[in-house]
Amino acid sequence: MSLWKILLTDGLEESGKAILRAAAQLDDLRGISPEELINIIPAYHAMIVRGRTKVTAAIIQAAEQLKVIGRAGVGVDNIDLAAATSHNISVVNSPTSTTNAVAELTLGLMIALARDIPRADISMKHGQWLKKDLMGYELRGKTLGIIGLGRIGSTVSKMAVALGMTVLANDPLLSIEEIRQRGAEPVELVELYNRSDYISLHVPLSPNTRVLVNGQAFASMKRGVRIICTARGGIVDETALLGALESNQVAGAALDVFALEPPGLSALVAHPNVIATPHIGAQTFEAQSRAAQDIADEVLAALQGQPLRWKIV
Ligand code: NAD
Repeated sequence: MSLWKILLTDGLEESGKAILRAAAQLDDLRGISPEELINIIPAYHAMIVRGRTKVTAAIIQAAEQLKVIGRAGVGVDNIDLAAATSHNISVVNSPTSTTNAVAELTLGLMIALARDIPRADISMKHGQWLKKDLMGYELRGKTLGIIGLGRIGSTVSKMAVALGMTVLANDPLLSIEEIRQRGAEPVELVELYNRSDYISLHVPLSPNTRVLVNGQAFASMKRGVRIICTARGGIVDETALLGALESNQVAGAALDVFALEPPGLSALVAHPNVIATPHIGAQTFEAQSRAAQDIADEVLAALQGQPLRWKIV
């Protein structure tokens, strides 16, 4: 048995834990508070988090022996990357494990918006038969604008093309050729806003994307556009979205992520034209099992000084 000590703070599927236990001492302290974490972190060589634990500069500062922080899943906005870099700590994630789950949820939300499936269901549960009121729209022939054509965005693009949609994409970090290869027409953001019937966001949260979709953006969209955000809270300006829903500039929005989570029964969540889900994009048995195995392998590789597939810093 090696002397590596690995800490889990947000839980991990058993498939990943088994890989870690075979090679190291594994302590599962799911739900630990930030104060407790600072006290115990000096003993660990690696830690694995999901989205809950905020790995702050103070925690990194206290982590005397830490070599690697693993994020089971994609977004690393809960980890202070600058602090990790300055302490020579690697940050790795398992970015491909959840791609399909998030893309399928995005498609599900888009169809739910187009056909108002939540209202159809809730009315049946109130003993009603709203057949005449529940006229919806077909996706075939409509235009989907995707902002961020990476792993999830390009998977959504392929699915939307299969449904007969035209896909526009804006992704300044990809070449025009790469965007075309991913099944989409490359456009500037303003053209995407002008032409799209549906807009789906798949960018990471960063200083460049924080409130990217703001009041000015909503004003330049087609009247009656529908928005889907399964990326991160904070990318859509929620106050501006509420205003755009109230003026019917935006006909509907489906949100899996919120600036503050959980948002409670906010005016946005309660709005009749909003479909809200509690950040379930990656919540499939398949994705969580893949994420756990991928991050376990990657963290052990980092500890053993082997080549890394998904090193962020
Ligand atoms: P990715 O890195 O493969 O793709 C992100 C794309 O966004 C890249 O192609 C990048 O070039 C592009 N981009 C960056 N800044 C941009 C900007 N300003 N404008 C337009 N494009 C920009 O990431 P991914 O695996 O596709 O994941 C995307 C995001 O989805 C993650 O960052 C995460 O926040 C979110 N996510 C959510 C869930 C969930 O549970 N709802 C689960 C997994 C991931």
